[in-house]
Amino acid sequence: MSAPAPLPAPAPRRRLRVATASLAGCFGCHMSFLDMDERLVGLIDLIVLDRSPLTDIKHPGPCDIALVEGGVCNAENVHVLRELRRAAKVVIALGACAVNGGLPAMRNHRGLEDILRKVYEERPDGGAGIPDDPELPLLTDKVHPLHEVVRVDYFLPGCPPSADAIHKFLTDLAEGRTPRLADALLHFD
Ligand code: SF4
Repeated sequence: MSAPAPLPAPAPRRRLRVATASLAGCFGCHMSFLDMDERLVGLIDLIVLDRSPLTDIKHPGPCDIALVEGGVCNAENVHVLRELRRAAKVVIALGACAVNGGLPAMRNHRGLEDILRKVYEERPDGGAGIPDDPELPLLTDKVHPLHEVVRVDYFLPGCPPSADAIHKFLTDLAEGRTPRLADALLHFD
């Protein structure tokens, strides 16, 4: 009796293209992404990075996932977020600022004019005046969470979400599962 023919090798899994961006945030969520440490090496088998501060690619190509840190506080943020929404099948609001505006949204309680005067004019040294360089992106009246500007598919809370939470979320998506985080991985501070 002849030996059975070997099974064909499984087709290599397509790596997900992932774009990341920081809008009105502090890069802490990106630092948490990097906190995956040696697990980043394993993640390279599952994802490939597209536009991101980590690759310095400025504009996204068609991609599977956009991980977006920070809320929306100016016209440039709106432009970057809409570009990511058009490019990505799935948009994830990464961290408190993206989910609900976070710390930058504290300015919403004072009004934009009031805040600008306080920061730039009402100072012991008289201040340098409110910047009006046309190169500066126009500020929005309020800081918005992402879902007030584009459709968001997933919300990952925390300031920042832990590296464990980001790793579980991405590996679930990359392996075709709906992301599910245990309560211990979820926090809102
Ligand atoms: S959620 Fe926290 S860590 Fe992330 S960008 Fe906002 S302030 Fe920074």
